[in-house]
Amino acid sequence: MVVTTERDEMTWYKCETCGLMFDDQADAIQHEEHCDDEDPSYLQ
Ligand SMILES: [Zn+2]
Repeated sequence: MVVTTERDEMTWYKCETCGLMFDDQADAIQHEEHCDDEDPSYLQ
């Protein structure tokens, strides 16, 4: 799921599955829909 977090007086939207952060909620939600923590395709 997407969680919100505040940093540097900005609100960020974080994919709780992989930890990726977005400055746009729609981007975060779209990412989360396609996020697959079972198959990490990049280095952590
Ligand atoms: Zn993700």
